[in-house]
Amino acid sequence: MSDNCIFCKIVRGEIPCKKAYEDDEVLAFHDIHPVAPVHFMLIPKLHLPSLLEADERHAALLGKLLLLAPKLAQEQGLTNGFRTVINSGKGGGQEVFHLHVHVIGGGNIPPMVKRDVA
Ligand code: AMP
Ligand code: ZN
Repeated sequence: MSDNCIFCKIVRGEIPCKKAYEDDEVLAFHDIHPVAPVHFMLIPKLHLPSLLEADERHAALLGKLLLLAPKLAQEQGLTNGFRTVINSGKGGGQEVFHLHVHVIGGGNIPPMVKRDVA
């Protein structure tokens, strides 16, 4: 747990969230600024800043997050597929430094990389 981490505060119930799933290790909640009709995040309850700090000890937890993604996506109505995004570090555009897997879908999901931009 990290005192000043916003997602740790959500885990502790100090900041409200729209919960999609919870167990003893994992929490899923809807993004406050969704970029698509369905946009939620899967996080470990453990304060792990990003994939950059992950190691072999976190393998099972990371696997669990990824295996929950399709299950929860379908529960949220994304029966036709979804996008997962994990931003890692400032260079990866990460803003909240508590590891999270974005699950995004519904509506028109554009290609992720614009190949015509130099
Ligand atoms: P990232 O840029 O990958 O670090 O993503 C951080 C995400 O957290 C952004 O999509 C924010 O909209 C989202 N976010 C920040 N604060 C909250 C909050 N209190 N509840 C839900 N989502 C949040
Ligand atoms: Zn945290």
